[in-house]
Amino acid sequence: METSAGVVVIGAGIVGCSVAEHLTRMGWRDVVVLDQGPLFESGGSTSHAPGLMFQTNPSKTMTDLAKYSVGRYLELEVDGKPCGYEVGGIEVAETPERLEDLKRKRGLAASWGLESHLISPEECAEKIPLLDPKKVLGGFFVPSDGIAKGVRACEAMGRLATGRGAKFYGETEVTGIEVKNGRVRAVETDRGRIETDLIISCAGMWGPRIGRMVGMTVPLVPMQHQFAWTTPLAELVGETREVVHPILRHQDFSMYLRQREDCYGIGAYRHRPMPVSADDIRRDYRGEGEFPSVLEFTPDDFEPTWQEARKMLPALQSVKIDRPMNGLFSFTPDGGSLLGESKEAKGFWVAEAVWITHAIGVGKVMAEWITDGVPSIDLAGADVHRFDPHALSPSYTLARSSQSFREVYDIIHPQQPMDAPRPLRTSPFFPRQKELGAYFLEGSGWERPQWFEANRTLLDGQEVLDRGSWAGRYWSPVAAAEARATRESVALYDMTSLKRAEVTGPGALDFLQNLSTGQLDRPAGKVTYTLMLDEAAGVKSDVTVARLEEEHFQLGLNGPRDIEWMERHLPFDGSVRVRAITAGTCCIGAWGPAARDVVQSLSEDDFSNEAFGFFNARRAYLQEVPVTTQRLSYVGELGWEIYATADMGLRLWDLLWEAGQPYGVIAGGRAAFNALRVEKGYRAWGTDMTTEHDPYEAGLGFAVKLDKGDFIGREALLKRKEAGPRRRLVCTLLDDPNVVVMGSEPVWADGRAVGYVTSADFGYTIGLSIAYAWVPPEHAGVGTRLEVEYFGERQAATVAEEPLFHPAMKRMRA
Ligand SMILES: Cc1cc2nc3c(=O)[nH]c(=O)nc-3n(C[C@H](O)[C@H](O)[C@H](O)COP(=O)(O)OP(=O)(O)OC[C@H]3O[C@@H](n4cnc5c(N)ncnc54)[C@H](O)[C@@H]3O)c2cc1C
Repeated sequence: METSAGVVVIGAGIVGCSVAEHLTRMGWRDVVVLDQGPLFESGGSTSHAPGLMFQTNPSKTMTDLAKYSVGRYLELEVDGKPCGYEVGGIEVAETPERLEDLKRKRGLAASWGLESHLISPEECAEKIPLLDPKKVLGGFFVPSDGIAKGVRACEAMGRLATGRGAKFYGETEVTGIEVKNGRVRAVETDRGRIETDLIISCAGMWGPRIGRMVGMTVPLVPMQHQFAWTTPLAELVGETREVVHPILRHQDFSMYLRQREDCYGIGAYRHRPMPVSADDIRRDYRGEGEFPSVLEFTPDDFEPTWQEARKMLPALQSVKIDRPMNGLFSFTPDGGSLLGESKEAKGFWVAEAVWITHAIGVGKVMAEWITDGVPSIDLAGADVHRFDPHALSPSYTLARSSQSFREVYDIIHPQQPMDAPRPLRTSPFFPRQKELGAYFLEGSGWERPQWFEANRTLLDGQEVLDRGSWAGRYWSPVAAAEARATRESVALYDMTSLKRAEVTGPGALDFLQNLSTGQLDRPAGKVTYTLMLDEAAGVKSDVTVARLEEEHFQLGLNGPRDIEWMERHLPFDGSVRVRAITAGTCCIGAWGPAARDVVQSLSEDDFSNEAFGFFNARRAYLQEVPVTTQRLSYVGELGWEIYATADMGLRLWDLLWEAGQPYGVIAGGRAAFNALRVEKGYRAWGTDMTTEHDPYEAGLGFAVKLDKGDFIGREALLKRKEAGPRRRLVCTLLDDPNVVVMGSEPVWADGRAVGYVTSADFGYTIGLSIAYAWVPPEHAGVGTRLEVEYFGERQAATVAEEPLFHPAMKRMRA
C-alpha cells in the first residue's frame, strides 16, 4: 500500500466511489480509496439498498443532484450489465389531501425541469398491473425515475477511477487521522500509515466516528429501516429481467415497492424510529446478509406495512416475506446531506448522509468544490456548517434525526415548525409576546411570532381574502392588520433571530473589503448593504455592515455558514477577530411613520433626519438601556433596528411599548413582515438568490462597486457582467388577487415551464398578489405575460416594475 497520497477517500460505498471517479475525471491521479470491508460489496448501506430513485424533491439542489445521478447510472455498466434502469416512478395517493399534494409535486417537478404527469388510477394499474386501482385516487408519474444498482455502480466507477490512476484498498480500516497545526497530515490504518493533506470521509453512517478523529462533530444518526423481498409471484413467473414495473411509492402509508425479476421488494418508514450509535455498528464483514449495516429483523414493526402492501398489490396475498432486514442508513436533524470541509482540521472533508439517488451527483459537486473551490450548484441546504451550535448536541441530533425518519414521506409545509424540542431559543421579549397572544413558528430553534392574536381587534371590518388550505396554513388574516398598522403608525418586530457578528481589529476593514462587493471604507457611523460572492461570482450571502468605529464593524448575516466563510478567510496575523453575537444580544425593528416619535421620546440623543440619516448607525441610550441603532428597515418604512444586550432586552421592549402607546404601537409578526418585505422588493437570500445567481441577475447590481479594488469573485463577476444575464429575478403580479402562492411553483411561458417562483405573498398595501420568479431574460421584460402554476391550475401573471411600494423611498428617508 502507498505511504503517501494526494488525497485519501475513506469509504468505497456509492459516495466514496463517485468522489474518486469525479476527482480523477477532473485530473487527480494520486487518489487512494480505503474501505474496511471488501470491494465493492463493502457491507455499508450501499450493499443492500434496493436502489429506488424518485427524483422530485422540494429542494432544487436535491433534484439537480438526482437528475445528474440518474443520467450517470444509466450510462455506467460493468461487463455489459447496466447500473441503472429507467422504468419510471409512480407516487400514488390514497387520500384527497395526498392527491392535492401530488399536484404540487407535479409543479415542483416542472420547476426543476423534470417531465412528469398526473395519472388516473387506471393508468397507474396499466403501468403496474399488480396494483389495485380501487385502492388509489390517482398517481404522479415521472418517466425518468428508476432503479440504481448501487454495488455495480461502485464497481463501474471504481474501474473508471482505477483506469485513471486511483488505487482502491478493501479490508483496510482507518483507525486514526493525524492533524498538525490545524491541517490533516496522515491517515492511519490497520495496514499502515498514508501521508496526505487531503482526506474525504465518505464513511456513511460511520461518519461521526471518523469525524471525531479530527475533533469534528458530524450530526447524523444511523437509523434502522426495514426492507423485505417476497417469494416469487405467480403473476411474474418467468420474469428474469431486473425490473420492468415502475417503482412505486405509497406515501400515505410511508412505504415504497419495487419489482425485481419475479419478486417484489417492500420498504417501510412506518415503524418507530430505531436509532443506533455509529460506535456500535460492527466493522467486520461476514458475507451477504450479514453486512455490518444489517441488524436483526423485527417482524412486529413490519407487520402493518406488509398488510398494507397486500392491499395495494393483492397478488402479494399469495406470497411470503423472504430475506427481510433492518438495514441501517444515516439521518440528520433536517434530513439533508452533510457536505463540506471541517473547521477543526483543514483538508478534512465530509460527504455523508447521502442517498443512492443523489450520490453520483454528490461525487461530482464534491470534486468541483475541492478542485475549483466552488461547486457548480448551490449546496447551502447540504452544507455541513448550516447548523447552529445547539443542533450539534447529541440529544438534538438524536431527537431531530428520529423526527426526520418519521417525516420522510410526510407532506411537509414549507413553514412547518419542528414540534420538539420547543421552546428552544427565545428572545428576551418572549414573555411579552406570549401575553400578546403570539402564534409562534420556529426558525433555527428560535421561537418567532408569526402574528399576535391581540391584534385581531385591529381587523375591525377589514376584509382579508382567504388564502386556501395550503397558503393559509400558519397564517392569519391578522397579518393584514399588522401590515396596515406598520404602514400607518408603528410596529415592533422581534429581529433577534437575525444572525449577527462583530468583526474587529486593525485588519478588519481590509478583511471585509476583500470578502464583499460594496465600498466599506466609509466613515464610522455608516451602514452598507453588500454582498459576499464566491469565486465564481455567485451570491453567497447578502449582508449589512455597520461601521461602528474605525476598527469595529457589526454585520447582519444570513446564517452560520457566513461566519464559517469569514473564519475561513481570516488572516493568519491575528489582526482580525470575528465574534458571533446573536446569542448574547437582541434586536427590535421599530418601524412605521411614528417610529421616530417613539424612539426620540426615550432618548436625549438626536434621532432627527438631519442628525441621524438613512443607513447610519450609532450607539445611544434609550433611557437606561445602551443600544446600537441602525436606521434601516426591511419593511420599507421609517425606523430603526435597535440592538441591545440580552439582559436589557425586556426593559427595552417595555420602554418602546410604553412610549408607543400614544401612537397605537403594535407588535408585528413575521407574516406581516414578509408581506411588507415582498411588497418593497427586498430580497431574501436563500429564497430569492443563491450561489447559482450573480448580483446583476438578482437585481442587486447596486450593491457592487467594481471600482473599489479587488474582492473575492470580482474577476468572475467581470466576465459574468460581460456575458450578460442567464436569467433574471422578476417581480410578477397575479391577475387574480385571491390566489397567493408560496414559492417554488413553476412559471410557464409559450407552453413550457421556463422558471420558478421564489418569494411570494400578498401585498396588503397595494392589494395585489405578488410572486418573484426566476425566468429567462426573454421573458423578463416589464409587461410580459406569464403563468404561475399552483396546485395544477395556471394563474395568469404579468411582470411588473419594481419595487411595487414607494420606489422613491421617501417614507424611509423622511
Ligand atoms: C434498507 C435500505 C434501503 C435503502 N433504499 C434506498 C433507495 O431505495 N434509494 C436510495 O436512494 N437510498 C436508499 N437507501 C439509502 C442508501 O443506501 C444510503 O444512503 C447510501 O448507500 C449511502 O452510501 P454511502 O457511500 O454514504 O455509505 P456506505 O455505503 O455505508 O459506505 C460507507 C463505507 O465506509 C466504509 N467505512 C466506514 N468506516 C470506515 C473506516 N474506519 N475505515 C475504512 N472504511 C470505512 C464502510 O465500510 C462503507 O463501505 C437505503 C438504505 C437502506 C438501509
